[in-house]
Amino acid sequence: MDYIIKGYEPECMFRFFEDISAIPRGSNNEAGIADFLVSFAQERNLKYFRDDLNNVLIKMPATAGYESEPAVLLQGHTDMVCEKNAATEHDFLTDPLRLYIKDGYLHADGTTLGADNGVAVALMMALLDGAAAEHPALECLFTSSEETGLIGAIGFDYSHVTARSMINLDVEGEGQVTVGCAGGCRTDIRIPVEFVKAAGDAMTLSISGLMGGHSGADITLGRANANKLMGRILLALRREYDYNLISFNGGLMGNAIPRECEAVITCANAQELKSKALKIADDIAAELCAADEGFKFSCQRIDTPQLMMNCASTRRVVTAIGTVQDGVLRMSTDIEGLAEFSCNLGVVTTDEHEVELVFNSRSAIESQLEAAIDYLDALADMCDSTAEHYSRYPGWKYAKQSPLRDKYMVAAREVLGVEPEVLAIHAGLECGVVKSHVPDMDIIAIGPNAQNIHTPDERLELSSFSRMFKIVERMLKK
Ligand SMILES: [Zn+2]
Repeated sequence: MDYIIKGYEPECMFRFFEDISAIPRGSNNEAGIADFLVSFAQERNLKYFRDDLNNVLIKMPATAGYESEPAVLLQGHTDMVCEKNAATEHDFLTDPLRLYIKDGYLHADGTTLGADNGVAVALMMALLDGAAAEHPALECLFTSSEETGLIGAIGFDYSHVTARSMINLDVEGEGQVTVGCAGGCRTDIRIPVEFVKAAGDAMTLSISGLMGGHSGADITLGRANANKLMGRILLALRREYDYNLISFNGGLMGNAIPRECEAVITCANAQELKSKALKIADDIAAELCAADEGFKFSCQRIDTPQLMMNCASTRRVVTAIGTVQDGVLRMSTDIEGLAEFSCNLGVVTTDEHEVELVFNSRSAIESQLEAAIDYLDALADMCDSTAEHYSRYPGWKYAKQSPLRDKYMVAAREVLGVEPEVLAIHAGLECGVVKSHVPDMDIIAIGPNAQNIHTPDERLELSSFSRMFKIVERMLKK
């Protein structure tokens, strides 16, 4: 193989990165990379364990003088998100990535680079290849299908792990250490609705132009949820007008703050209702944050369709959407600016039998996720419906004491010459899953500078990857 990355230490780590870039490893296609890791372990006489999910754990004994030190677990995922530019010819099941370097950054030509989380795979391989001269016993866990719901990490048998300190290598940002993440749960509530022959004037109410964003990372920014705003407008209209809902549709993904929403209604006095609705929307526009300045609300008369929801169904749907808790429910008292508990009504869709509501609840604390499930069960119950909860994964709460974090701070100061930043995120990481299985595990997550992950513009700063190795190397020393 002709290697293109030259001049960075340790050399083997960059070669391993190039080696694995030649192995297709999209989520749910990890058999090839798992085979490769198993042969790698066999060639070096290292103990390994591979499971049916294609998780691979490889163990390496301590170097001389470190035999009595406690083992350290390193962890990252083998799968990558497969995205390419429309014009790029690339088969993610057969083709190697085409790597190139520009201005000190590694890219893949027209595709995702898989630095998320190939950096973890290459770094652990370098350690297992002997790139660090001194270290305690190492346990390197390569998990599968992280990007599709932490599948490998959830299914792994942690009785194979003896370490009680873990360095997760699956975040981005040099000089930052992640010390907590949120757990989550999806919930679908399907409200049964009855349709009757429509009467009155029909009108489409539309909301557009909101900023939206990620339902975890952006939830503290105060951006409005289009579904919730529409619910609020419909509740306000109910004070003075009778109307029937025909449909309610908003948002595209459970984990995104919805930017657009459309409700179709019929009523007896459309013109009057319209001026009232525009007045309510004006009041709302004045409340919104700067990011939502594109907010638009419109009411448009349309031909009256054949069917409308009956009064009871209309009432149930509008009450549910208008009153359900949404956005930040509690901020962290340990870390400034971090959301601790939130809920997002991401999607509402209407078909001929029901209105479906899709929620994404997040919290670093399990008991809060339990509470979210109880709220939504109760809401469903009030709507003569049931809630279905799925894709649940646990959070990782900030630990006040963490010897591993203290070690990182010292090592990072030495290598980078700056004071590292300690942060927690309001989104999921495999750390939460590991913590739920091994509650006494001391965990941090670190990574190099990489940008635009999950897109064909993904790039990795090679020098920061080299420094990341140096930090880990120092942390492993006595
Ligand atoms: Zn990742």
